[in-house]
Amino acid sequence: MIQIERHEDVVRFAMSTRRSRLAGMSASAYLVGGVLIDCGFPDVAHEVDRLLQQETLRGVIVTHAHEDHAGNVEAVARRGIALLAHPDTLAYARAPARLPMYRRFTWGEPSPLRSAIVSFEPEGLVLLHTPGHSPDHHVVWDASTRTLFSSDLFIGVKVRVAHHSERPRELVASLRRVLALDPARVFDAHRGLLPTPQESLRAKLAWTEELIGRVEALADTGMPVERIARAVLGARDANDFVSIGEYSRINLVRAVLAEAGARVPASDGH
Ligand SMILES: [Zn+2]
Repeated sequence: MIQIERHEDVVRFAMSTRRSRLAGMSASAYLVGGVLIDCGFPDVAHEVDRLLQQETLRGVIVTHAHEDHAGNVEAVARRGIALLAHPDTLAYARAPARLPMYRRFTWGEPSPLRSAIVSFEPEGLVLLHTPGHSPDHHVVWDASTRTLFSSDLFIGVKVRVAHHSERPRELVASLRRVLALDPARVFDAHRGLLPTPQESLRAKLAWTEELIGRVEALADTGMPVERIARAVLGARDANDFVSIGEYSRINLVRAVLAEAGARVPASDGH
């Protein structure tokens, strides 16, 4: 289902299915000035296709290749709607890796991008590279209203699990970069409009920097990653279990240490 929320010049399409809600997840696309930012996940393909048909769109921007953002990119291209995304995002959309089972359960399996793309230059909106969450992660900035469409840059202040592809230091640099824009409004792809945008972004920046410092300090003492994860992030939770370690506390510690170029101590094999 798609729930519609209006915020002055911005429309939020909050998308979920019974299965995504079971996993505690929804994903949002935003419409601003005739531009759709992200295009939802595969299991809402029919509703997204109807939306693409009904709305008069100038074009679509896709912020990164994850299936809850780029999941219907083929439908966008097939309809001949102009599309802007980073070349790496498009390359992944053309040849997506097989998703782990829990991600297929939550979001569905995307159709690979096969149709030709009509390129899009979104007047008034700027796509900014903000890596960390993923190497191809971008946010969209509307300078006329100082509005940031932050995609997955924020998600929450204390995100205690990570995928091995995440880069906490790059995330810190990206958070600094968007704070320097002095945003008045921030729309998160999962949480919607953030009530206290700059405070939230600053709190995440501080928490992540402190985490990096603590992980490095403990690694310097020779502590193994499992113990660092427990000391800094607490015990494992359901998320570690459901994703069978793909998103885990240990991976967050490993991501910090890998980025530091540190030797990662022996692991428990996850
Ligand atoms: Zn993502």
